[in-house]
Amino acid sequence: MYNVAQLIGGVWGAGGQGGELVVHDPADGSPVSTVPVATADEVGKAVEAARGAATEWAATDAAERAAALRRAADAVEAAAEELAEAVTAEMGKPVADARGGVEAGIATLRQYAELAPVRGGRTLLGGGDAIDFMTPQPRGVVAAITPWNDPVAVSCGLLGAALVTGNVVLYKPSERTPATGWLLARALDSALPAGVLSLLTGGGEVGAALAGSEVDVVAHVGSTATGRTIAAATARTGAKALLENGGSDPLVVDADVDPVWAAEQAALGAFANAGQICVAVERIYVHRDVAEDFVAALVGRAEALRTGPGRDPETQLGPLVDRHHRDHVHGQVTAAVAEGARVRTGGTIPDGPGTFYPATVVTDCRHEMTLAREETFGPVAPVVVVDSFSEALKCAADSPYGLAATVLTGSMSHAQRAWRELPVGTVKINAVFGGAPGGAAHPRRASGQGHGYGPELLDEFTATKAVHIEAPGGGHW
Ligand code: NAD
Repeated sequence: MYNVAQLIGGVWGAGGQGGELVVHDPADGSPVSTVPVATADEVGKAVEAARGAATEWAATDAAERAAALRRAADAVEAAAEELAEAVTAEMGKPVADARGGVEAGIATLRQYAELAPVRGGRTLLGGGDAIDFMTPQPRGVVAAITPWNDPVAVSCGLLGAALVTGNVVLYKPSERTPATGWLLARALDSALPAGVLSLLTGGGEVGAALAGSEVDVVAHVGSTATGRTIAAATARTGAKALLENGGSDPLVVDADVDPVWAAEQAALGAFANAGQICVAVERIYVHRDVAEDFVAALVGRAEALRTGPGRDPETQLGPLVDRHHRDHVHGQVTAAVAEGARVRTGGTIPDGPGTFYPATVVTDCRHEMTLAREETFGPVAPVVVVDSFSEALKCAADSPYGLAATVLTGSMSHAQRAWRELPVGTVKINAVFGGAPGGAAHPRRASGQGHGYGPELLDEFTATKAVHIEAPGGGHW
């Protein structure tokens, strides 16, 4: 059992007068973590304390901040196994995937430690003796509000980039994975000056109090609904909102691809992490010529997945995060069936403990169905059959979201059309996951705003200042 503590103003164990939450293991319902809930007053005090630490950290040499982040990455590495176990216990992810998320987080911390000190601004061509330049400066106090689905990797990105650029950070991990957030904050804090990082725990109301407080940036990775609430709150305070939110990513399967290979890609995209990935495959547009073979192979892949608790190393499909989320996923599947869709495999809630949901393939879907249009965030592959690549692209583009899209095609001209025409942040051709290191994109529309990843995230956490210096009295230096 993890007993989570908050970190406020450099003091571990502070606050928590808002009560206590208990997190249960989604694999068997057993209690995993007890978590203090911050009051609005504690949030206010934490913001005030953070503000007090901001000036000194901002004035610390960039190289020194980078060295601190490197030490922090080492501390996270030393706690890696403990972190992976906490992720699995709190949200159910298979432990190998959880380890992968922790390793990705450590790599991101190290990457930002290298990149941040070599950044600078432009010098300008001023007149005469004037000196003109532009320089990035820390924004000040950053609230980082994070989700549960890949808690270490996502948090390391936001925290690493914000800290190394000279901001102080108030970190509010998801109420589904607070012990993971606590272990991460403990490791990071061990390498940082006191007060530079704070940890506040609790649910959405703690996030809301933080988002509405006098901070300079609210960085949120999470659902679109929450992102919109945060955008409204920051519009009132003037804080910058950095939002990496939900998606309903399409997969287009062209007429000329091997349907068995396409099904492998679809299964990976739809079922990895039980579909609880922001860039999971959420809807599939398959060309009629290959549809039958594609669906048969996809059903085969779905049925071959080994389901079980994430701590079992054989498990490929763990439980969903909680009962409420499973109800949401199952609700979308049953609504699609009521509208004429057909479940080819899965689609039923299993008996027994835990919040498991089977890998599910739904055919006879129409593009308009909620299952295709909205984020499901579960192991569900809705299949829509189309008659042409143009029809597939049109459907793929027609979405309130704009996170990412994948196109499987052997045609270079179709690939070129796809990346030019799809209104999303990331287009992947012939691979549902992957990409070169450092990739970063702008999510569009309901999927958020601002770069949440890559070197550009360092820019999001700084504000550019233009400086013009002249000699006194209009003279020369
Ligand atoms: P969520 O938005 O419900 O919760 C995320 C965080 O926001 C939590 O810490 C939560 O306590 C907090 N929160 C909730 N209500 C709030 C409010 N009113 N004001 C301020 N904070 C509040 O999201 P989730 O369910 O934890 O995560 C799943 C979602 O995250 C999915 O939609 C997924 O697509 C998205 N996600 C996006 C990315 C990306 O990079 N675009 C990455 C991972 C997850």
